[in-house]
Amino acid sequence: MCRDMDSSETSRTSVVFVHRGTFVHSTPENALQVMEDALVGVDDRGKIAFIGEGKELQKLSQVFGFSSSEVAQLERHEFFMPGLVDTHIHASQYSYVGTALDMPLLQWLNTYTFPVEACFKDLEFAQKVYTKVVRRTLRNGTTTACYFATIHTDASLLLGQIANDFGQRALVGKVCMDRNSSVKHYKETCQESEDEAHRFIKELLNKKYPLVKPVVTPRFALSCSEDLLSKLGEIAKNNNLHIQSHISENTEEVTLVKELFPDSESYTDVYHKCNLLTGKTVMAHGCYLSDNELDLFRETGASLSHCPNSNFSLCSGVLNVRNVLDHKVKCGLGTDVAGGYSSSVLDAVRKTLDASKVLTIQDPEHNTLSFEEVFRLATLGGSQALSLDDQIGNFEVGKDFDALRVNVAAPGGPIDLIQSDGPKILLEKFLNLGDDRNIVEVFVAGRKVVPFTDGLGEI
Ligand SMILES: [Zn+2]
Repeated sequence: MCRDMDSSETSRTSVVFVHRGTFVHSTPENALQVMEDALVGVDDRGKIAFIGEGKELQKLSQVFGFSSSEVAQLERHEFFMPGLVDTHIHASQYSYVGTALDMPLLQWLNTYTFPVEACFKDLEFAQKVYTKVVRRTLRNGTTTACYFATIHTDASLLLGQIANDFGQRALVGKVCMDRNSSVKHYKETCQESEDEAHRFIKELLNKKYPLVKPVVTPRFALSCSEDLLSKLGEIAKNNNLHIQSHISENTEEVTLVKELFPDSESYTDVYHKCNLLTGKTVMAHGCYLSDNELDLFRETGASLSHCPNSNFSLCSGVLNVRNVLDHKVKCGLGTDVAGGYSSSVLDAVRKTLDASKVLTIQDPEHNTLSFEEVFRLATLGGSQALSLDDQIGNFEVGKDFDALRVNVAAPGGPIDLIQSDGPKILLEKFLNLGDDRNIVEVFVAGRKVVPFTDGLGEI
């Protein structure tokens, strides 16, 4: 059945391209919905104007004013899927991704992370790393990224500019931290942090980038005084902004937070007291949250970013995503570069399945996540976790066209097709075996952002 905008909408917009072929996506009710021989039209604002069936071509071309010769037909082993959403990635840590995975969290931060992040005072270095991370993640199909930068306001603004230039949808956070005893020069006073958070938000909003927005970013409870946390909660509230941080990642951290905030009932309560848990909050990890804390997440509308590569790599823990979903807490996937060694959300998909299977090995009663459910976490789930599901996450009329054109049989690619498989099998093969060679094109808000058009080659 054809779904389209009402006539008042269509009169204001014109359809600029139409694709015909297989589309796969998730809905809140259905982890995987396959639309074969679908027709999807995108308007000049980058929004989905209609979704119909191939047999409705003539009618749709009349209503939306395009000719059937303009319709781009997907190849046999191709499909469109929604863009991947990385709900937690440290852009600044991309410089050492794939290394330094031999310590638990707190020692890892002191030994590797803080000394490297301190280098982002140098804008030339920042430009180099941030350009590479935006290009690489886009190439891997990340249409939306929720980034941590560093404490440096100007370098964080630069990350916003680079994401905008490449056409990636991004939430960008200038990190706020007024506690750090290991690398003395890599911290701010509470006042500096508050002032610079204000400046960062104001200057980034003033740029009026259509797809790049600021996110209030206290590093985590151990790096922030209660005073700073409260001030950041206030800033987020007054400006109706997103919030991101970390929670309950490893046991040593959880113990220290209890000691440092003796008046709080739980780790979650530390943030809740400071107004940092809202419908626009995403917290990374949450491996050790109690059921009561998950209830508080649900009540406040805050979400979790599941980062299994990082949780395995730093031996932090294994989040029980099934339990999170049973508590009706919004959940997306994160790469958590560089605690996670891969910047690809496809890797996060695989590690999420692995983590779920580890739980099933430990307890055969555990209800293992299916690949369809994890596909939803990587797309629609991520959009919900970032409170962007009114704009992105799946193919719905009126949403932005953020999409990957996938060719499972891409020449020179990593997948061998032996028999003629249906779309569900093709998706499963792509999720488990695919990589950027299979991602033929990437669209963000209707704009084709991959292949790159800057003449600089592929990466
Ligand atoms: Zn992180």
